[in-house]
Amino acid sequence: MSRSAHPAGPRHADVVPEGHYAAPPADLNILDEKVWSRTVTRDADGALTVGGIEVARLAEEFGTPAYFLDEADFRARCRAWADAFGADADVYYAGKAFLSRAIVRWLREEGLNLDVCSGGELTTALDAGMPAERIAFHGNNKTVDEIERAVSAGVGRIVLDSFQEIVRVAHVAQRLGKRQRVQIRVTVGVEAHTHEFIATAHEDQKFGIALAGGLAAEAVRRALTLDGLELTGIHSHIGSQIFDMAGFEVSARRVVQLLAEVRDEHGVELSEIDLGGGLGIAYTSGDDPREPHEIAKALGDIVTRECEAASLATPRISVEPGRAIVGPTAFTLYEVGTIKPLEGLRTYVSVDGGMSDNIRTALYDAEYSVALVSRTSDAEPMLVRVVGKHCESGDIVVKDAFLPADLAPGDLIAVPATGAYCRSMASNYNHALRPPVVAVRDGEARVIVRRETEEDLLRLDVG
Ligand SMILES: *Cc1c(COP(=O)(O)O)cnc(C)c1O
Repeated sequence: MSRSAHPAGPRHADVVPEGHYAAPPADLNILDEKVWSRTVTRDADGALTVGGIEVARLAEEFGTPAYFLDEADFRARCRAWADAFGADADVYYAGKAFLSRAIVRWLREEGLNLDVCSGGELTTALDAGMPAERIAFHGNNKTVDEIERAVSAGVGRIVLDSFQEIVRVAHVAQRLGKRQRVQIRVTVGVEAHTHEFIATAHEDQKFGIALAGGLAAEAVRRALTLDGLELTGIHSHIGSQIFDMAGFEVSARRVVQLLAEVRDEHGVELSEIDLGGGLGIAYTSGDDPREPHEIAKALGDIVTRECEAASLATPRISVEPGRAIVGPTAFTLYEVGTIKPLEGLRTYVSVDGGMSDNIRTALYDAEYSVALVSRTSDAEPMLVRVVGKHCESGDIVVKDAFLPADLAPGDLIAVPATGAYCRSMASNYNHALRPPVVAVRDGEARVIVRRETEEDLLRLDVG
């Protein structure tokens, strides 16, 4: 492996990096444990290890780019969520963040339930042995075929997302001679992201049925009259990467208000309330996520208080974390290729993947961290932008970060916190081969989703 530094790195005193990296960290060799999965550490030679295995060995055996998932960390996070919410509440892992048969098995073993939102996710869940009653089916446009499969399989709940769907699901259930347990997804007029939430007067988006204008109350009215449906509760999901509980507070208050209205009008006390997912994780050192037990306590207190005020029995609470469970448990390992210093700007570091394995930066302007992981370095920090190999100038993996100035082609760098919405949103752009997901635990590494091959590409291309 070549260790020669590229010629004279650029000076970048005039460039103010955007986002989190206003200044280089004191020591680039120190890994901030907040953004790395729990078993990640540096060994005596300075190379990063996960689950007791050095990254160079992982790269050699599995190639790059690849996602390495820390199984012990994943299981520990599942247990922490299950323990925090206890026997009187339910935790549904949002499968869209990342789903595979191994993940389903681990969820099952650790006592979590599972959200799916497509026929494909449902098939994966059932195939890996998740009991149907522990599955919730979501989506704003479920096909009749998907509804039939979900009802036939006996999923524990279908979350109804529109007036048309109320009728559709009721018809399918009746035709199959079943009574399907359902929740109604409402939009509460709150949109939450990271540190603030926005109260929105009208709901200009595709999900759910608005509380505003009495629409959600009308949806409840209709659902209660249909024989094929057993309406058990109300569902609300307000956003993503949320740190501040204030949005959940407003959401819970408005959902409980609806429960009180339903009781007053129909004499029915709905027994469930689902507050959705969206809990934030640390992508950079600047993020401070809450622990599951703090979240459980905060949500439990809010719902209990609001129900007492409305003289309602406290319903059974459920939550649907996706990112908060799987996000921190994986990193993407890349090999450094072309390094292009742009005088007075920054250095572009190209890796062997890009927007095909992580679309989040291009799609949401997401922030990530990055570290040199095949060795340590005492070189000066260099302002970099980590970019992929795709034919698109927006193909950015990490917008602004610092790496050592002696970075060289062949070095391995890793981007932490890529467990959620990276492999699950991966594409074949430029006929890229989607990377494998490798589970690492106690000195053993096992492929749970294999790398795509050019044969896979040609097999789909039927000529
Ligand atoms: C996406 C989604 C989630 C999970 O969101 P995270 O940000 O991954 O926690 C949960 N519930 C619903 C309805 C969703 O659409």
